Amino acid sequence: MAAVMQPAVSESLPLLSVNNLEVVYDDVIHVLKGVSLSVAEGTIVALLGANGAGKSTLLRALSGLLDVHDGEVTKGSVTFGGRGIHHLPPTKIASLGMKQVLEGRRIFAELTVEENLKVGGHVAPRQLRTNLERVYGLFPVLAERRKRTAGYLSGGEQQMLAMGRALMSEPRCLLLDEPSLGLAPLIVQQIRDLIVEINAGGTTVLLVEQNATMALSIAEHGYVMENGKIVMDKPAKELLEDSDVREFYLGLGAEGGAKSFREVKHYKRRKRWLS
Ligand code: ATP
Repeated sequence: MAAVMQPAVSESLPLLSVNNLEVVYDDVIHVLKGVSLSVAEGTIVALLGANGAGKSTLLRALSGLLDVHDGEVTKGSVTFGGRGIHHLPPTKIASLGMKQVLEGRRIFAELTVEENLKVGGHVAPRQLRTNLERVYGLFPVLAERRKRTAGYLSGGEQQMLAMGRALMSEPRCLLLDEPSLGLAPLIVQQIRDLIVEINAGGTTVLLVEQNATMALSIAEHGYVMENGKIVMDKPAKELLEDSDVREFYLGLGAEGGAKSFREVKHYKRRKRWLS
C-alpha cells in the first residue's frame, strides 16, 4: 500500500499571521491599508512606528477590541495557532491564548495588587495559586506589594502589574502596547529584562514600541509601520543597522552620534521610503 503523505508539520507555520489586513473606523476612516506580518512561536517580534502609524489599531484587530472603538476589519485575515480569529470576540481570542497589555497600563486602580492578578486569573481558576506564585516569582516587587491599592504603585510597578495580570492566564502570545511609555530609563531596562525572561519561559511576544533601541535589542525580527502600512520588514539586527531607522527611530546620525537638525531635515526630504 502506498504511504500516505502527511501534511506539513504545523510547527513550521507562524503562531500569529496577519494577511493583508484592512481596518476602517466609523465606516470611513481607513487606517490599516493591507498590513501583513507574522510572528513565529517562541520569538519576540518588534513593531515600530511613529504616533498615529496604526500600531494600536493593529493590536486591537488582533485581540478583537476594534468593536469597542467603532472599528472593523474590512479585508484580510488574522490566524492564530492556525485558526482564523479576525471575527472572534475578545474573550474567545483570549481563551485561545492571545493576551494584550493595553497602552497606559489600565489596571484596576481601586483594587489591590493581588485582586488585580486574580481578575487576570479567573479564566484558569484551578491554576490560580500556581499562577500567582509564578507571577510573584517573576515580579518580586508585586509580591511585596500584594495588599497595596494598585493606584498607589509607581508607573513601572503598574506596568509590571498589567503584564503580570495578562500572564495569569498563561497566554501563548503576549501583545505589549508601548510598555516603556513614560518610564525612567532604569525602569525601561527592568521592563526589557522582564520581557526577555517572559519570552524565555516560552511566551511569544509581539512588542509595539516607540523606543526602538529597547525593542530591537531584544527582538529577533522587526517591522516598521507608517500610515497604516508596513514599510520595512527585517531581522532586528539589520533594522538596527539601517540608516533610516538609525536616523529616524534611534535618533542617531551617520557617525552614530546624536542626529543634527540638518540630518533631520535631510531625512524629511527623503521620507519617500515611508509612503
Ligand atoms: P499612538 O502611538 O499615538 O497610539 P498608533 O501607531 O498606535 O499611534 P493608532 O492609535 O492605531 O496609531 O491610530 C492610527 C490612526 O487611526 C490615527 O490617525 C488615529 O487618529 C486613528 N484612530 C485611532 N482610533 C480611532 C477611532 N476610534 N476612531 C477614529 N480614528 C481612530
